[in-house]
Amino acid sequence: MTTDGVEPSAQYDVVVVGTGHGGAHAAASLRQHGFTGSVALVGDEPDLPYERPPLSKDYLSGDTAIERLLIHPASFWHDRGIDVLTGRRVVAVDADAHQVRCADEAVISYRHLVWAGGGVPRTLTCPGHDLGGVHTVRTTADVDRIRAELSSTSRVVVIGGGYIGLETAAVLGQAGKHITVLEAQDRVLARVAGAPLASFYQDEHQTRGVDIRLGVTVERIEGRDSRVSGVSLSDGELLPCDLVIVGIGITPAVEPLLSAGAAGAGGVEIDEQCRTTLPDVFAIGDCAVHRNRYADGEMIRLESVQNAHDQATIVAKVLSGEDAEYDAVPWFWSKQYDLRLQTVGLSSGHDETVVRGDPATRRFSVIYLRHGRVIALDCVNSVKDFVQGKRLVAEGSTVDATLLADPTTPLNKL
Ligand code: NAP
Repeated sequence: MTTDGVEPSAQYDVVVVGTGHGGAHAAASLRQHGFTGSVALVGDEPDLPYERPPLSKDYLSGDTAIERLLIHPASFWHDRGIDVLTGRRVVAVDADAHQVRCADEAVISYRHLVWAGGGVPRTLTCPGHDLGGVHTVRTTADVDRIRAELSSTSRVVVIGGGYIGLETAAVLGQAGKHITVLEAQDRVLARVAGAPLASFYQDEHQTRGVDIRLGVTVERIEGRDSRVSGVSLSDGELLPCDLVIVGIGITPAVEPLLSAGAAGAGGVEIDEQCRTTLPDVFAIGDCAVHRNRYADGEMIRLESVQNAHDQATIVAKVLSGEDAEYDAVPWFWSKQYDLRLQTVGLSSGHDETVVRGDPATRRFSVIYLRHGRVIALDCVNSVKDFVQGKRLVAEGSTVDATLLADPTTPLNKL
């Protein structure tokens, strides 16, 4: 049953907080793994769980409607006896009482809690950050607001050269807007991809007329009649614009858990079964700090749909009485123009890169090695390399760089 109201005494065997990919998949997987107890999926957005990746792509371009974004139709949740409580923001967790409290004071009791709170977009703090026409991209409501302003927009400044920044730059540039991307680092995609790939993507955008500025600092957002009119940089340059997109990362939404005493900083810590340090409380997805063998055993967060899914599956299995531990190979994807980027593994800490294929053909891979072992691949329009390379990453294979660089030798033969 989908409802926008729940009685204060509501009680469930499992309460899942967060209706993003992780939360939705955790609730659905519980049933898949035979869990028969009561389940509630609680989220502060008004919509049923929906796919986020299209927000900065097809939903922004207007090619996909909200109905097509839904992860499952209302009947799916109803048929599985999962209560989807939309429009409810959980603001506190009482770990001793096994209860969560919502912003409207409603209290929901749980036997087990699965926290899939994700993150909230970081916002600028400089003067003018709250002017009309300054937008983040995380929810359908964010994108609906942007779309409503597009007809009166000709110049867009995108702040941040990560996935959000570059994907929105591609869509809005193709819609005929003049785009300037401002990135604080010395290359685009600095957090998610290696230098050769960043340089390839920078060229692709510049070829299509996107103005990319690296290593710049935004001083203030200029406005007229409470609406953005430009962006001033610290070197004194003023970039006139009608719309600003801010894609400068996310802050993990874990405050209620940390206030309740859960261990963590910059996220909430979980073990290999996704348990937090609070009794009967699990956490998954963008907000979960976990030890990851693909990051050399470091405690990290992964901001990806795939990770949210994998951790949701682990929790569903554990709560259904199965034995399961998280050990998935990380992967990510992005779509810009006709370029499909698929990344497997984590490239940070690499000491060697191999370019496989010719970037000029717009079909190639960059392979990252550490101490001779393959740790990650960025594959552009190269599905085969992505699929076959996954095994090299999973096994930490040592492969001769000359062989890796030869696109005529399939990776599964190495
Ligand atoms: P991101 O990947 O963290 O990239 C943000 C970039 O903006 C970073 O390079 C950051 O540099 C830079 N930056 C920060 N403050 C800045 C400032 N004041 N001026 C200029 N640049 C600044 O974050 P995102 O692109 O906003 O993405 C947000 C979330 O959405 C992430 O979880 C992302 O994975 C997800 N997402 C994923 C996809 C996909 O997988 N295809 C698509 C869209 C969104 P610093 O590192 O120095 O802060």
